[in-house]
Amino acid sequence: MTTAHGYAATSSTAALAPFSFERRAPGPLDVALDVLHCGVCHSDLHTARNEWHNTVYPTMPGHEIVGRVTAVGDLVSKFKVGDLVGVGCMVDSCQHCQPCADGLEQYCDNGFTGTYNGPEQGTGANTYGGYSDHMVVRESFVLKISHDEGALAAVAPLLCAGITTYSPLRQWNVGPGSKVGIVGLGGLGHMGVKIAAAMGAHVVLFTTSAGKREDALRLGAKEVVVSRNPDEMAAHAGSLDFILDTVAAPHDLDAFLALLKLDGTMTLVGAPDRPHPSPNVFSLIMKRRRLAGSLIGGIRQTQEMLDFCARHGIVSDIEAIRMDEINTAYERMLKSDVKYRFVVDMATLKAA
Ligand code: NAP
Ligand code: ZN
Repeated sequence: MTTAHGYAATSSTAALAPFSFERRAPGPLDVALDVLHCGVCHSDLHTARNEWHNTVYPTMPGHEIVGRVTAVGDLVSKFKVGDLVGVGCMVDSCQHCQPCADGLEQYCDNGFTGTYNGPEQGTGANTYGGYSDHMVVRESFVLKISHDEGALAAVAPLLCAGITTYSPLRQWNVGPGSKVGIVGLGGLGHMGVKIAAAMGAHVVLFTTSAGKREDALRLGAKEVVVSRNPDEMAAHAGSLDFILDTVAAPHDLDAFLALLKLDGTMTLVGAPDRPHPSPNVFSLIMKRRRLAGSLIGGIRQTQEMLDFCARHGIVSDIEAIRMDEINTAYERMLKSDVKYRFVVDMATLKAA
């Protein structure tokens, strides 16, 4: 065992504060790493504040992790000391059900182990995430990073925001000729815009923040719609092949379903703490539209996404913060005041 230091919340109303705990010693199949950078996902905030009603306290968020390997177990073959690696939203799964065999660990029949908020396979213990100085992770859940070392902080958000948008875009065959809507320009949304554009799609960004228009065009959108403006929305009625909704708050889905063409699909990845108003059945049946959901992505596909982004020169647009700025960062994220992902420089943890 080693003593780890990080930032955790002890209740739904407590600010995140320094917290120390024990990490297991690396077993034969484990990789130990020092955390260099950790992105700040809206799911971290939902969890710290128990907005999904499943948080085990103390809770230490962080699942957009880039680090450097410090030790490997005897049976580890893919990594060596000094390698740059990534860890995303999962650190384990049962490894014997059909979804796991298919590389869809996020849909493990027995429940995957979250990087934070566990439960650990076998023991049921709580897991502690990337807002910490080091981690020990099973080799099969560690990713290779091939981006330039100078871009590492901006690579961290790919481990959740990147794969959560890449996976549904692939699932629904987005590519050249597709007209794709991305709803919400936050951490997930801005990655969705970049990745869909790199896949060759015509991207339309839907935002509630008129001030994000120029940024959206710079990030790769061909058109920007302020979703509060009914005329701008109506101009796209019945025209989109696919919509990816990343919004972290309940809102009217019918307004977006109306923009899909025949057989179009809208996939929800945003996970608000309260339900959306139920969509109207006629929004779906009149054009055989589909309303779907998607959860992060499997490990194999996460590696595919990282390699795709490295090839296309895609990283996140980030604002680096110190560990002791995390509570302010949460407040700003709630106001959609982040361009477009906070990433904690873990070197600042020692000072904090
Ligand atoms: P984020 O950075 O806070 O971005 C969310 C965006 O939603 C905001 O930037 C804003 O964009 C829009 N928005 C926020 N409040 C809104 C409101 N009241 N009405 C309309 N639009 C609003 O969050 P994120 O980290 O991208 O995460 C987004 C959601 O996805 C969260 O619920 C998170 O938990 C979830 N998530 C799901 C998965 C999955 O596997 N399915 C994985 C990761 C995260 P505009 O200013 O452009 O309108
Ligand atoms: Zn996340």
